[in-house]
Amino acid sequence: PPMIELDAVTRHYRMSGQTVRALDGVDLAIRAGEYVTLTGPSGSGKSTLLNVLGCLDRPDSGSYRLDGIEVRTLDDTAASRVRNRRIGFVFQSFHLLPRLTVLENVLLPMRFSEHPDEQAPRRAQTLLARVGLGDRMGHRPGELSGGQMQRAAIARALVLKPALLLADEPTGNLDSRSAKDVLALIDEVHQEGQTVVMVTHDNDVAAHAPRQVRLRDGKIEHDTAA
Ligand code: ADP
Ligand code: ADP
Repeated sequence: PPMIELDAVTRHYRMSGQTVRALDGVDLAIRAGEYVTLTGPSGSGKSTLLNVLGCLDRPDSGSYRLDGIEVRTLDDTAASRVRNRRIGFVFQSFHLLPRLTVLENVLLPMRFSEHPDEQAPRRAQTLLARVGLGDRMGHRPGELSGGQMQRAAIARALVLKPALLLADEPTGNLDSRSAKDVLALIDEVHQEGQTVVMVTHDNDVAAHAPRQVRLRDGKIEHDTAA
């Protein structure tokens, strides 16, 4: 079965008496090792879908199975357990903690993990070297460029070896040179067999991925794999 299976997923928000259908009957299957971009206009539901995939948000109806686990009916504790063990996140705005060093930031996911992972400190250093920050591990995020911060954030997302890497506009705050580096890194991560889902409003960025899913008004308008 696919790693990700959504059947008729809806997510509605109630705003001052109005119902916003952020997701409106989404069917989507993604196999392990795929690299998929989510595109579509502002407000089409991209972030909502990514948050559902990442177990940060739950569908109101329908079914979302991740590795066969039905996510919709999990309580918060169980959802965060699934999230911590299986999913790495990269955000547009990096979300690095300014008072911690780069290495400490990359090791943060360990603190939220219930299972000690003795390999993680070594893996953090290997990942940082790999993303070109081997000589910046002791620096604070404020001493890095935007591109370096995002590469550190990618190392952090990968440190616990998640099955699924989710990225929300990871190049949105970067100049075009740094954006290229970050996209090349994400390509590499995919080449190594990682499942990647990335939100972008930029069609050139989306074209990097073998599969593109376009949303409109909370529905899948086009899927290049369909
Ligand atoms: P995109 O990422 O494509 O810009 P979003 O998933 O952020 O789209 O939003 C989809 C729709 O859901 C929009 O109409 C947005 O205003 C609405 N929405 C998203 N999050 C919330 C929220 N927390 N409360 C109310 N409405 C929301
Ligand atoms: P922006 O750059 O517009 O602030 P991000 O890409 O940073 O957006 O965040 C995307 C979405 O993820 C937002 O809806 C935000 O609420 C959520 N988010 C951001 N950081 C975290 C986090 N550390 N943990 C969980 N959710 C987060």
